[in-house]
Amino acid sequence: MTGKTIRFYCEYCKETLAIQVTESLEKEFKERADKWPYPLVYHHSDHFAIIYIDENWHERGVVCSKISYKKET
Ligand SMILES: [Zn+2]
Repeated sequence: MTGKTIRFYCEYCKETLAIQVTESLEKEFKERADKWPYPLVYHHSDHFAIIYIDENWHERGVVCSKISYKKET
């Protein structure tokens, strides 16, 4: 456990949520984030939160959506 946590306010849940920064999430950010802040998509309940995260795991902006789109092949 790293003990790091990302906190953000979800407008649909109407509360502040916390995401534990697991080793696998930290590794994924190191490998894939090519800019900061980098957005993380968090799917929960019936909606998504897109959370911009900086190098120190601080939230730098959030948008919430109930809609996602997948192209049909
Ligand atoms: Zn929510």
